[in-house]
Amino acid sequence: MAEQTPHTGVIIPAAGSGSRMGAAVPKQFLCLADEPILVHTVRAFLRSDAVATVVVVVPPPHEEQTRQLLARHLAAGQLARLVFTIGGATRQESVRAGLAALPGGIDIVLVHDGARPLVTGEVIQRSIAGVREHGAVIAAVPVKDTLKQVDGAGRIVRTVDREGLWQAQTPQAARRDLLERAHALAEAAGFTGTDEASLLEHAGIAVYVAEGDEGNIKITRPGDMALAAGLLRGEGSMKIGHGFDAHRLVEGRALVLGGVRIDFDRGLLGHSDADVLTHALIDAILGAAGAGDIGSHFPDSDQRYQNISSIRLLEETVALAGQRGLRLANGDMTILCQQPRLAPHLAAMRDNLALACRVAPDRINIKATTTEQMGYTGRGEGIAAHAVVLLQPVTTIPEAPCR
Ligand code: MG
Repeated sequence: MAEQTPHTGVIIPAAGSGSRMGAAVPKQFLCLADEPILVHTVRAFLRSDAVATVVVVVPPPHEEQTRQLLARHLAAGQLARLVFTIGGATRQESVRAGLAALPGGIDIVLVHDGARPLVTGEVIQRSIAGVREHGAVIAAVPVKDTLKQVDGAGRIVRTVDREGLWQAQTPQAARRDLLERAHALAEAAGFTGTDEASLLEHAGIAVYVAEGDEGNIKITRPGDMALAAGLLRGEGSMKIGHGFDAHRLVEGRALVLGGVRIDFDRGLLGHSDADVLTHALIDAILGAAGAGDIGSHFPDSDQRYQNISSIRLLEETVALAGQRGLRLANGDMTILCQQPRLAPHLAAMRDNLALACRVAPDRINIKATTTEQMGYTGRGEGIAAHAVVLLQPVTTIPEAPCR
């Protein structure tokens, strides 16, 4: 049920060095399914009608970068509900800075990790409802797995009873006055808590659990990126694609297949180098990525592509699939060619295509067949090629932040 006047403010402490991710940039800037993690996180809250303001707390060196990033990815109407403020050295100081930056009229505050981009509208709603009922709640899920306490040598000391044990997530939410009081008391006492709940508990304020979500993961380690990307896409992530191409054999042209120049008295006619095998592979990748076809990306009418090596076009295609979070899992191709004999060249073609696709050669398979003198390939009028590919989600951590 949407409110008439939203009274909820969200604080997102977006600091964190990302050291556990092995990345050079704070993890909230890393690209997840085409967008920075922080953009996914902020947008999840801006989708809620109950949220009036989202305060993004950033460490000083990244203030401008964060502003620009969010401005690039969010709509103007969404940006109007954002407030930026400078954070402190610790999460606790950053949240305190966020509290100070909240506008008046806000009486419910949700604090949420910048690196938890998969928070759902339902979890946000339950957090707000929980504050109305109890004053302070945190999103949490019951512990499912058996817990073992082990000693320094890795030997199990005892089995911990998981009855009544919950894993804390965020949002951690409270009435604004309670959270402000908890922070003031912690500061006065020199108490440092690991989360908002621990500050509230320290202040003697009862905190309840609101049902979280198993998918509301915090991106901490490199493997979390692949998991989060898969959850964000919300679908089976393998993509299949097919490509077919044919070119006419003419005199006075070089024969290039899979980037290999082959000694022959004729070559393939086309605007580019007419590398029919590479064209079929490009179309298969574009097909799997849901990105149209070779003609729409590299039109014949464009002078840039005249006589260009099709391997360059393949590299661009692979980059485009990468922007969509996909990389080649494997590709299988068949060349239909009566003459010349291609068997001696297949390994070199495979190596060229694998290099352009940035995969190991064993992920590429190329076969050649004649058509027993039947049809246009059999009569030597042209050469044709089929390609089938499987694309998989990119699972490596991008070294550069999202643009
Ligand atoms: Mg072609």
